[in-house]
Amino acid sequence: MSLIVQKFGGTSVADSQKILAAARKAIRAQQQGHQVVMVVSAMGKNTDLLIGLAGEITDRPSAREMDMLLSTGEQVSVALMAMAIQSLGHQAVSLTGAQIGIKTDSIHTKARIKSISTERMQRLLDEGNIVIAAGFQGIDEDFNITTLGRGGSDTTAVALAAVLGANACEIYTDVDGVYTTDPRVLPEARRVDRISYDEMLELASLGAGVMHNRSIEFAKKFNVPIHVRSSLSDAPGSIIAANVESKAQSVSGAAMLKDEARISLLGVPDVPGTSLEFFSRIAARNVSVDMIVQNVGEDGKADISFTIPSDELDITLEAVAEAREIVRVDDVTHDKQASKISVVGLGMARQTGVADRMFRALADSDVNIQMITTSEIKISVLVDRSAAQTALRAVHKVFELEKQPVASEDTGQPIDQAPPTDAADVVDRLRGVDMEQLTIHDVQLDSTQGRITISGVPDAPGVAAKAFEEVAAAGIFVDMIVQSYTGHPDGARLSFTVPRDTLDNSVAVVRRLAASFNCGGVSSSPSIAKLSVSGVGLRSHTSVAIRMFRALAEANINVQMINTSEVRVNVVVDGNQGEQALARLQDAFADVIR
Ligand code: ASP
Ligand code: MG
Repeated sequence: MSLIVQKFGGTSVADSQKILAAARKAIRAQQQGHQVVMVVSAMGKNTDLLIGLAGEITDRPSAREMDMLLSTGEQVSVALMAMAIQSLGHQAVSLTGAQIGIKTDSIHTKARIKSISTERMQRLLDEGNIVIAAGFQGIDEDFNITTLGRGGSDTTAVALAAVLGANACEIYTDVDGVYTTDPRVLPEARRVDRISYDEMLELASLGAGVMHNRSIEFAKKFNVPIHVRSSLSDAPGSIIAANVESKAQSVSGAAMLKDEARISLLGVPDVPGTSLEFFSRIAARNVSVDMIVQNVGEDGKADISFTIPSDELDITLEAVAEAREIVRVDDVTHDKQASKISVVGLGMARQTGVADRMFRALADSDVNIQMITTSEIKISVLVDRSAAQTALRAVHKVFELEKQPVASEDTGQPIDQAPPTDAADVVDRLRGVDMEQLTIHDVQLDSTQGRITISGVPDAPGVAAKAFEEVAAAGIFVDMIVQSYTGHPDGARLSFTVPRDTLDNSVAVVRRLAASFNCGGVSSSPSIAKLSVSGVGLRSHTSVAIRMFRALAEANINVQMINTSEVRVNVVVDGNQGEQALARLQDAFADVIR
């Protein structure tokens, strides 16, 4: 029998009428012949209210008691939902996270799911009940109540769909699907019919705000198709699955993360192991580092810049100060007024001329790019917060995201024909493995590229745009791009990699340009090795970058460039050390490669 998980967010259960409307949707699905599990969030803004209450008592509530408090929001909703279904003449049973057997680790307020038992839910379903599960919560080994982090009900829903082998996971919300960017910020945003897991993973973590990003990790790992749709209408919504909307498109979405802070470490000794001293201390404080931009060193010194959520600036600076007692750096600068703008698309991995269009659009809108980092399917730039909305609008427009893509090729199966995940297979794969444990698919070495670095890039719009336009015009495919920002008067440093046989040509192009823009020098290296670790959850598991740094540092291998994304971390090292670095990384991740 087919099984559907339906998740209703806070706005979809905000009052009794809405609860009844949600109940009717579930009953309708059951009458169409499905078994139905509902996952519900706390009503309306209840979680915020509870957080406010705690704040009236103390500035520093303990995380354990916070979870005890916040979990009550969902408990209210499940009980009312069960009553609603019963009042409409159908059978329903509500269950808390503990009653379902959602076991998590003990990291209160950010817990990760380890395992879920399905027996009780399956029995209740087989008896004809609609099962109503409290979202966002679980219990640890000692039966302490835990929560999964704000927005965590999405993750509960997709995780339940995975273990139950559901045919579909429907996310009912107050928007009618996934948009090319947040429609509250840009009204010209367009609803997409379909988006791939990888694109959605990037967008969710880049601030798109529709779904909890760990829920997409689950969906990708266990191949659960997600259907995001409005709780107010029967509009078609958007499907998140393995395939893209249109293979003709290079960019499928744009996102803004408004409240970022940047920290730059200037004049860091360019020797193995230095980044580790910083990032391990930051990770120990549970802060997740977002953009990490390390650029090729000069005179034995490198600059490392990275971003973090701006409300975690103080605690991160504390970690940095601690590391400075061990590693001498010339200076540390920071900026609390930054925002990150990103574009995402599986298509850009195969096309030239994506980065230059983005940079051109920003330059033409007079937006200064402070930092750049790319991955195979994403380009992110850091800009001043006052320019963030202008920047988002400019990139949305240049990639014509408001228009329905043409030439939409084969986009895969419709949702209701998606193959159900084989529950037995999933349970098998999960035996003995925590569900949200880091998964690495592969460690790869690419020795086919060379690197170019422009130093002393003036802190003004237009240089990156011009550089990549000229390189694209010469037909050269640019892979990694990294621009560091220090706030120094002598400007930023911009590095990128190209196929080795196009290196000379690229250098010639860039030299001409650097002169006309009054940059410092241009340097290049034909001998670099790019190493990539790919998998699921690479950024939400902050330990990945650290594991890489540690493995390389222990082998005395210096990292020249880094870029990170949800599904991949890339580093560039000296070409002579490629094979050795590969072996070290394969070793370092051996226990999580699956
Ligand atoms: N109620 C929780 C929150 O507001 C979980 C959720 O809604 O997904 O974050
Ligand atoms: Mg939500």
